Amino acid sequence: MSETANCIFCKIVRGEIPAIKVHEDELTLSFMDIQPASPGHLLVIAKTHAANLLDITEADLLAVTLAAQRLARAAWKALEPDGIRINQFNGAAAGQSVFHYHVHVIPVWEGRKIGSHGRAPASPEELTALAGKIRQALV
Ligand code: AMP
Ligand code: ZN
Repeated sequence: MSETANCIFCKIVRGEIPAIKVHEDELTLSFMDIQPASPGHLLVIAKTHAANLLDITEADLLAVTLAAQRLARAAWKALEPDGIRINQFNGAAAGQSVFHYHVHVIPVWEGRKIGSHGRAPASPEELTALAGKIRQALV
């Protein structure tokens, strides 16, 4: 079986499992993290499977980075955080749990503690509302 068959993010790209999408272009897809570290936590992925930073092509890396910048700008405008944290993990030892290259875009507010990502699920209603606000702020 190929590496992509059981990859959860490839399944989202193929439409086999749902995601609350915020932005899509030829090479990238951005959607809400279902177990967010903070409100508005987004994931930006390349549509083509690559496990991590070491494997991804330069073209996909550039596309994901530019999409992450665009999404960070939109999240900043829509949610008015005090900062935005960009996280990216390579290998289980570094904290990676989904082995399809992705960038975390995490809004941060002063005085509000950031949770651990991938722990507590947010409600679909809350995620959908946040996604709508960020989408509207996209330029
Ligand atoms: P990591 O591999 O540690 O960078 O984190 C993977 C992230 O993917 C975690 O924050 C999870 O909450 C998130 N995640 C896992 N499955 C899904 C999914 N089906 N839709 C959205 N986010 C997901
Ligand atoms: Zn994949």
